[in-house]
Amino acid sequence: MLEKEIVIIGAGPAGLSASIEASRAGAKVLIVDSNIKPGGQLFKQIHKFFGSSAHKSGTRGINIGKDLVSQAEENGVEIWLRSTVIGLFPGNKVGIERGGDNEKKELITIKAGKIIIATGASENAVRFKGWTKPGVMGAGAAQTMVNVNYVRPGNKVVMVGSGNVGLIVSYQLMQAGCEVAALVEAAPKIGGYAVHAAKIRRAGVPIYVKHTITEVRGKDRVEEVIISEVNEKFEPIHGTEKSIKADVVAIGAGLKPSIELARLLNCELTFNPVFGGNIPIHNKDMETSNEGVYIAGDVTGVEEANTALEEGRIAGISAANKLGYIDDDTANINKEEIWKRLKGLRLGPFGERRLAAKKQILDEYETRIGKTICK
Ligand SMILES: Cc1cc2nc3c(=O)[nH]c(=O)nc-3n(C[C@H](O)[C@H](O)[C@H](O)COP(=O)(O)OP(=O)(O)OC[C@H]3O[C@@H](n4cnc5c(N)ncnc54)[C@H](O)[C@@H]3O)c2cc1C
Repeated sequence: MLEKEIVIIGAGPAGLSASIEASRAGAKVLIVDSNIKPGGQLFKQIHKFFGSSAHKSGTRGINIGKDLVSQAEENGVEIWLRSTVIGLFPGNKVGIERGGDNEKKELITIKAGKIIIATGASENAVRFKGWTKPGVMGAGAAQTMVNVNYVRPGNKVVMVGSGNVGLIVSYQLMQAGCEVAALVEAAPKIGGYAVHAAKIRRAGVPIYVKHTITEVRGKDRVEEVIISEVNEKFEPIHGTEKSIKADVVAIGAGLKPSIELARLLNCELTFNPVFGGNIPIHNKDMETSNEGVYIAGDVTGVEEANTALEEGRIAGISAANKLGYIDDDTANINKEEIWKRLKGLRLGPFGERRLAAKKQILDEYETRIGKTICK
């Protein structure tokens, strides 16, 4: 059986930054990712990032991804693409299916010294009459089609959800030549940043707040979309229906952490609505209830690329420290610095809720598992 010192699952910002820290310290690192390119969500993000200059605001996500990949490669990180982790087994064994769609597939088991799970998040679905018709998809899927595969999902789109994903993807669909016929939001106001909403408004996209999608009509695919006003309980109000001609419905209704692999190892979970659902409890080393198994990024709660990067760094340092590549004092100083930066990122009304939620998770780890690794 193959053996690797650290196996990282997911080559998004969290997995890549973990790999850079651990490999710089001297550890031998393998990253495994199902995609054809490393970078996770970053390779879809052609827009300039928001946040502080220390966290690359104003740089396009795609360029942040390229920079991380070159740093990882310079430090000798091995990256397996088109490789999906299909199982995690006791004794830190990682089951991988390697090989793309038209390639011969191999099943490989690796014994890992340490495992870092950085599998990101997946899109939430919304159900309505006709929701399984071709043309209904996640906003992230529509973004992948235009920005990664250079294919338009259709011509006329109704976007559901006005969070940053809904707003940014609407704009990117227009850049790719689609018409966005409407943006529909059940809440009374827009969820994402005003700067992204302003771009959509300036382009003349009608934004319907206090509205939801109730039906999709069409013979073999989406042809017509019915939206309705909602009451304060978010129930559609009969008699307020509007019909919109469209061939695509993109759903940007939030994300949930991709915790399946952590569950396979019976990592202890907690439900946290601020972070999008069930997440593995972890300590300040980003270590789960399973010793030697770390998590980082959106799998620890849906946030942003910057927080994913910083959490990845902590996981990478912690794993390298446990393997003896970094001494305890240096590791603790570095991790504390990163925790301070993470606190700086979790500011403002959204950020403060996330800071409180993260504290709750760390406290829960202390109560349920009772180990403080990084003081
Ligand atoms: C439209 C949109 C706009 C955004 N804009 C910003 C922004 O401006 N600023 C910002 O800071 N953040 C932004 N974000 C958020 C940011 O992209 C994410 O928070 C970040 O990418 C999370 O990083 P991650 O490494 O945890 O996960 P991801 O980037 O999702 O990477 C996870 C990786 O894991 C791989 N994977 C999953 N399961 C397996 C498996 N079983 N086997 C092998 N590989 C697997 C996936 O293929 C993927 O490559 C945006 C997100 C979206 C959707």
